[in-house]
Amino acid sequence: MMPRRRTPRLRMSRLIRNKIRLPVMARHYLSRFLLSSALLSTLVSCASADQAETPRPVTQPVTVPAPVVAPAAPPPAPVRAAPTRPEGPKLWPTTSLRGAEYIDVREIAQRFGLKANWVKSEPVMTLSDKKSVRFTFEEKQRDFHFDGLRIFLGKNVIREKDSLWLSKLDVIKIVAPLFRPSDHVAMLPATSPRLIVIDPGHGGSDPGKENLALKVNEKTYTLDVSLRLKKILEAQGWKVILTRNDDRELSPSKKSDLQMRNDVANRNKADVFLSIHFNSVERNPERVTGVETYVMTPQFMFSAGEEVAGDMTKIAYPGNRLDYGNLLLGEELHRAMITTLKTPDRGFKRARLAVLRMLDCPGVLVECAYLSNNTEARRVGTVEFRQKIAEALAVGLQNYSNTLETLRPKPAPPSVPVAPASAPVAPAKARN
Ligand SMILES: [Zn+2]
Repeated sequence: MMPRRRTPRLRMSRLIRNKIRLPVMARHYLSRFLLSSALLSTLVSCASADQAETPRPVTQPVTVPAPVVAPAAPPPAPVRAAPTRPEGPKLWPTTSLRGAEYIDVREIAQRFGLKANWVKSEPVMTLSDKKSVRFTFEEKQRDFHFDGLRIFLGKNVIREKDSLWLSKLDVIKIVAPLFRPSDHVAMLPATSPRLIVIDPGHGGSDPGKENLALKVNEKTYTLDVSLRLKKILEAQGWKVILTRNDDRELSPSKKSDLQMRNDVANRNKADVFLSIHFNSVERNPERVTGVETYVMTPQFMFSAGEEVAGDMTKIAYPGNRLDYGNLLLGEELHRAMITTLKTPDRGFKRARLAVLRMLDCPGVLVECAYLSNNTEARRVGTVEFRQKIAEALAVGLQNYSNTLETLRPKPAPPSVPVAPASAPVAPAKARN
């Protein structure tokens, strides 16, 4: 048993009891407080009895108000490191040319580990990796090719200082994210798309484009292809909602009709919006065939065919929150259509279309074929070709879903070993 020691606190207690005159109640509470402090001190001593060999500093418990002393200098503030975050994409070096900011195509090659080469008589430059040509740019052209796909820019490619140059906005919003979508993964949808709103263009009193000679119109084929696509996607596990299931408009007012198609997607919290249309040209209809794909134009960029800023150019629309998702969705759908249908590539373009502007999810509008071309219109008139269009769209949507899955950061491996899966899973398509 440890020898009992008289603590300074008990001596103080006696002193107070004997010498200091206090009101009865105050003395009562003060005594109780001092007694419990003494007990606590004893308990603390007992708890550390096994460390008795090591002298430890005696702490003087405070029982009476401490005398007022000058406050010591505050301890130095701990050194705070800036929060670390993954390194984002580096800024592009720009050069002011012809009154705007441009980026050297050779800089793009260097950034992406590609080799830049002039070809032919020098208006064309290619960027290649060890296997193939990835990009082809041509002086004065509004479009370029990426992995064989024809893609439109906001401004023409220009030639200066013995090189080709692209506008800064085109590099940041189109070229770089196409090549390396992983740099923008934080701005892509975080979950795999499962709910799609398919919009069969036109309907009711609005027939869309017509080929009067063949007596066919757009609204009939957009609905037919949409119903075929719905069936394919539902068999793959997608949830599908159509903006119209029969031959009708959503509103007698064209403006409201288009707005209501956006609303169907937003109200249902769709993951993807796909508007299906057929195309037409007035000049040289017999020479123009193929597929055109549109996504929302990024803020400040010129839409396809625009040469100067319009009223809407500076506006950031809700659909612009998803520029990178729109780009990926549009690319996958356009590529699937071109490769599956083996049809001429009329280009992956941008426009501030009423059915895309107000969307809360990635959206795309596909012009599947030209009804103004009699040969192509007759082809669209066959069930086989319309089924093939629906299948091509389904491939594009599935590729978009797979690419998102591939790009998504994977969770850390579990610390507890888990049983291996019963069957190996095929790896998703690799991207840059
Ligand atoms: Zn249309």
